[in-house]
Amino acid sequence: MTISRRDFLKGVAGSGVVMAAAVPDVDAKMSKELPPKAVGILYDATLCIGCKSCMVNCKIHNSVPGGALHKEGMVSGVCDALLCRSPEGEEKATDPPYETGGIKGNEGIWDASQDLTGKTLSIIKVYRNGTGEQKDSPVNGHAFFKQQCLHCITPACASVCPAGAFKKDPVNGAVYYEAYRCIGCRYCQIACPFNVPRYEWDSAWPEVRKCQLCRHRFAEGKYSACAEFCPTGATIFGRVEDLRQEAKKRFSMKPGTEYEYPIKTLDSRETSLRKVSRYADRVYGLSEAGGTQNIMLSGVSFELLGFDRDIPHSALPDLTWAYVAKIPWVFAGVFLGGTTIHAITSRMAKHGKDKEEKHD
Ligand code: SF4
Ligand code: SF4
Ligand code: SF4
Repeated sequence: MTISRRDFLKGVAGSGVVMAAAVPDVDAKMSKELPPKAVGILYDATLCIGCKSCMVNCKIHNSVPGGALHKEGMVSGVCDALLCRSPEGEEKATDPPYETGGIKGNEGIWDASQDLTGKTLSIIKVYRNGTGEQKDSPVNGHAFFKQQCLHCITPACASVCPAGAFKKDPVNGAVYYEAYRCIGCRYCQIACPFNVPRYEWDSAWPEVRKCQLCRHRFAEGKYSACAEFCPTGATIFGRVEDLRQEAKKRFSMKPGTEYEYPIKTLDSRETSLRKVSRYADRVYGLSEAGGTQNIMLSGVSFELLGFDRDIPHSALPDLTWAYVAKIPWVFAGVFLGGTTIHAITSRMAKHGKDKEEKHD
């Protein structure tokens, strides 16, 4: 069967009508306020030692095998630059629970994905300048930083998704994805101001992947694995309001002051006494893109770390779908994409549901 230009344009227009009808009313459905029990993560880069225990445990607890930090049978545990500990505290100095890329010993800890991927939902990256000697210094220094979904208060990815595959939990605010709804258009990728969602290009049944705040663990009374297994308190989990207060407090403290940094969660009894570093710039996430539930502190400015200097300080969903919907090729894309993937959508739906059932 061939499709004439006239039929094609009719199809595009028709799909536009259908899609326009399916577009959620952003203002009506998407709040710009924090949900009542919003939870999130505070990542303080000045406490980060680059051990990647967060990345390893992210993989383990989110069923994303593959990639440089994975090997069969790996177990949960805490790693730092010198040793790895099982949850029971057993030390394994030369046997980290992840792929060492053929390098024996702890050097292998540095062999990891270069960026977020369909198999890497969070990543620790390194900033370097000059000699790289001074930790958290923009000049002749180095600094770690963590990239993952920031769980926007008003998520652009959800606002632009024509299939309603991206959602924001109305109670805890986690932004999550339902694979069985996804039509593969990947507008979420275009819309995200932080370049987070990734597509599983190498999968026969591709899905969009990103951090979901480990929301599947909440029902068991657990929280984000990256926070639970961070040995230094660089990544901690808690109520967003409390994390914001904590971040502002750290930011305003005099460098050199001794402070008991909480580990794992804000109300954890585990703490680590150390001197406050000099924080650069600002608390990231208080207002960027309208505010995010994951927030960050760093000794090196976020622009130097590669974060977009021009990110708007207001919610983006007001702009996104209204903007995208006016671009003709978007509807053409929806039509072409829709017809191409129509044959696999129903199978994806089944696959997605199967996966979710397995997850439950
Ligand atoms: S960071 Fe990107 S993927 Fe995450 S909630 Fe915000 S817009 Fe969505
Ligand atoms: S909260 Fe996100 S980054 Fe952290 S372990 Fe869970 S999925 Fe990974
Ligand atoms: S955030 Fe914590 S677990 Fe992750 S690399 Fe830094 S110190 Fe290690």
